[in-house]
Amino acid sequence: MLGPLESLIRLHELTVDKPDVKNRRRMRAEVDRCKLELPPEIVDRHEYLVGRYGKSALVPIKGGCCTGCYISVPSSRESLEEGLYACEQCGRLLFDESKVFDLIHA
Ligand SMILES: [Zn+2]
Repeated sequence: MLGPLESLIRLHELTVDKPDVKNRRRMRAEVDRCKLELPPEIVDRHEYLVGRYGKSALVPIKGGCCTGCYISVPSSRESLEEGLYACEQCGRLLFDESKVFDLIHA
């Protein structure tokens, strides 16, 4: 089972990359499973951000900065979930790559 952060990243990939149409049914099932792992407010926020920013709705923090708008993210930031933050400037969801294990693109 994936944790909230991995679930969100997976959900994001499924939402923006729209993988193989033939597997639409399996994809929907996976989307639903990811959503179950996440608090509803994060699912809603993600949906809204994808509408606004598309693929860059969820971006990693790099060098202490949001990679969407390049403002620095305070180290005292409060996390939404383990390793997951919201940018104060642009509102994008940010994740700490060091908290993401080999699940991504495995
Ligand atoms: Zn930002």
